[in-house]
Amino acid sequence: MVRVDCSKLCPEWPCEQPDEFKHVWVIAEATEEGVSEASLQMLTPALEIARKLDSKVVGILLGYNVSRHADTLIKHGADEVIVVDDIMLSEYYPEVYGQVVVDLARKYKPEVILIAATMRGREMGPYIANTLRAGITADCTDFDVDEKTRDVLLIRPPFAAIMLAYIKTPFRRPQIGTARPNVFPVPPADESRRGEIKFEKTSILTARSKLISRKILKREEIPIEKAEIIVSGGKGVGGPDGFKLLEELASILGGVVAGSRKAVDAGWISHERQVGQTGKSVKPILYIAVGISGAAQHMIGVREATRIVAINIDPEAPIFNQADYGVVGDYKEIVEALIEELRRLKEAGPGAVEELIREYTQQAQAVGQG
Ligand SMILES: Cc1cc2nc3c(=O)[nH]c(=O)nc-3n(C[C@H](O)[C@H](O)[C@H](O)COP(=O)(O)OP(=O)(O)OC[C@H]3O[C@@H](n4cnc5c(N)ncnc54)[C@H](O)[C@@H]3O)c2cc1C
Repeated sequence: MVRVDCSKLCPEWPCEQPDEFKHVWVIAEATEEGVSEASLQMLTPALEIARKLDSKVVGILLGYNVSRHADTLIKHGADEVIVVDDIMLSEYYPEVYGQVVVDLARKYKPEVILIAATMRGREMGPYIANTLRAGITADCTDFDVDEKTRDVLLIRPPFAAIMLAYIKTPFRRPQIGTARPNVFPVPPADESRRGEIKFEKTSILTARSKLISRKILKREEIPIEKAEIIVSGGKGVGGPDGFKLLEELASILGGVVAGSRKAVDAGWISHERQVGQTGKSVKPILYIAVGISGAAQHMIGVREATRIVAINIDPEAPIFNQADYGVVGDYKEIVEALIEELRRLKEAGPGAVEELIREYTQQAQAVGQG
């Protein structure tokens, strides 16, 4: 079925018809240790899209010494994996990784490419889309398919509006979408699954960029999307001093501090620590929301949190409708009391707080899996 004469629409680019394209790709970030959780999460929408298109899910595994992780993608749902395992990919350089995907896409012609919107994904996605002259929709919160036209509906909240935009690219393939980490769960592993693994090479020999240095992050620098425990502050925290108190609590719990948009707008915490629609989606086992009202744009960012504890002075605050535990009162009194109690526990025995957290984590994970 020829649906459009691409040469008339954009004469400067080669015309490629949608029908030539097949399969749903997931670009997997991997190190020697394994495939990133954010990439595995992208298998969830990929499987759903492939089901609706009656197509296959293909994992694209790039890196150095990563081949053995191809199985992980298959166990979590990929039908096939294409591996490029090359010393050229031992360091991440966006133009190299992006070009490897572009070369593979030119050869195999995927119908859909999904990429986790990590720092790498945010760089690579636009590079791939632009080089292939394809469309890209960033930060999707959902995907659907028009089964008649095979157009993927890339769904995301538009800027400054409380609604959802359904975006499609009917005349160009591949259709590319990114989703932020923790928006989708990782599909459960099935140890018995088997799939085809293909190996490809890259002809790229040099990178234009160069790695200058590496830095190991301190606890408080851990990105919020990777943190297991988050103490998050809102407008109700009242100012930077309030955030110091939250940092104290986070430090005892081994967690990190985050905030609502109002806290970010007030300059009490940086934008990279903002939770929500225009911030980040997080997936902690414990999210302590302090002085946060629970607006929809904030709560969309915590929908994958295992447990939410809300501390708010207003018993009618909407956040209590979504929290697992609620404490009504002035946050300062409550947080100070919590810190004191945790300190007392710490003094009573070394490792007591860590033991408490370990126990809680096991319980919470059991709840999360149940
Ligand atoms: C397009 C768009 C995108 C947005 N994106 C985001 C986003 O990514 N993230 C986000 O967070 N918001 C986002 N917002 C804003 C969002 O709608 C809310 O305005 C914001 O989340 C409210 O922040 P807050 O809960 O800190 O403040 P408020 O809504 O003002 O709530 C403050 C809370 O603190 C409580 N409080 C006051 N004093 C105390 C005290 N002493 N002790 C305990 N509690 C106290 C109050 O009872 C109240 O519930 C977005 C809005 C739009 C339109």
